[in-house]
Amino acid sequence: MIVVMAKEAAPAELEEVKRRIESHPGLRPQVFDGVERIVVGVLGSIPPDLKDQLELLPGVIEVVPISKPYKLASREFHPDNSRVVVNGVVIGGPEPVIMAGPCSVEDEEQMVSTAKAVKAAGAQILRGGAFKPRSSPYSFRGMGIEGLELLKTAKQETGLPIITEVMAVEDVDTVAQYADILQIGARNMQNYNLLDAVGEIKKPVMVKRGLAASYEEWLLAAEYVMAGGNEQVMLCERGVRGFEQFTRFTMDVAAIPVIQRLSHLPIIADPSHSTGKWYLVTPVALAAVAAGAHGLLIEVHPNPDIAKCDGPQSLTFANFSALMGQVHAVAGVRKVPAQV
Ligand code: PEP
Ligand code: MN
Repeated sequence: MIVVMAKEAAPAELEEVKRRIESHPGLRPQVFDGVERIVVGVLGSIPPDLKDQLELLPGVIEVVPISKPYKLASREFHPDNSRVVVNGVVIGGPEPVIMAGPCSVEDEEQMVSTAKAVKAAGAQILRGGAFKPRSSPYSFRGMGIEGLELLKTAKQETGLPIITEVMAVEDVDTVAQYADILQIGARNMQNYNLLDAVGEIKKPVMVKRGLAASYEEWLLAAEYVMAGGNEQVMLCERGVRGFEQFTRFTMDVAAIPVIQRLSHLPIIADPSHSTGKWYLVTPVALAAVAAGAHGLLIEVHPNPDIAKCDGPQSLTFANFSALMGQVHAVAGVRKVPAQV
């Protein structure tokens, strides 16, 4: 349920609405100070009379039940697009934000050279996995904290903020010391303890779509993070499991406008993991941008042929640079709605 209040409502009127909500055990108010109105979300199991009572309070315009199981993540709750700002880079605005770098951190030279190359081509955020979720336990599983240190070096050299995955609850604080955005991988989208843990930190979180997750399950994963108090959440469509074996996963381009309709959270697209093939990354990236994606997550490697992870889907520096020119051309002619 949301309580819609006039923008001019007096602070005491807002306080009274919050007090009434808090007077019910288990209920919690969450205030969004919007451009045109103040919205107070009521989280918890709502008693039958509360809607009518709140509607009578001064400053309240209306009280609207939210039909979706996810509340904080829903467009009903927050009609304007949310923006997540990372070191001055705005994610969720009209310009697509490009996050690029290798699948895994391998060594200093690889990381720093990639950071410099993607920055020169126009990327605003550097990616690199230090804790890698691998389908096989025998595959390279990342450098761990040593990898985080190399990401820090690459950040110092280029100024690019870092996005990197956190896989375990016990690593959240450590990863948060290095990362500007914490990534929840597709395989962990329904790891509810991990979602709770990143809900408690003060850093932005990107929730990738599970391999076979519905939109609702995915938005409920975001809701976990937000219900913990962390509103700096973005989503990432990375392809879902279909019957086709030629591509690694099946990119669900429709997810981008669907999420924009259901939610106010920024939506990023990952054409690398969804396709699994470097020569499919550019066309699918451009389709995602045309469909309204707020950003792209792209794997780039100095030598894809010797990459320790995901070489076949990694772009060379030259291919990444060529893609960037086209991304801006497509972004220049699209229009991302501020409201849906
Ligand atoms: C990644 O982005 O490094 C990754 C492992 O992706 P996903 O969780 O989507 O498979
Ligand atoms: Mn990868």
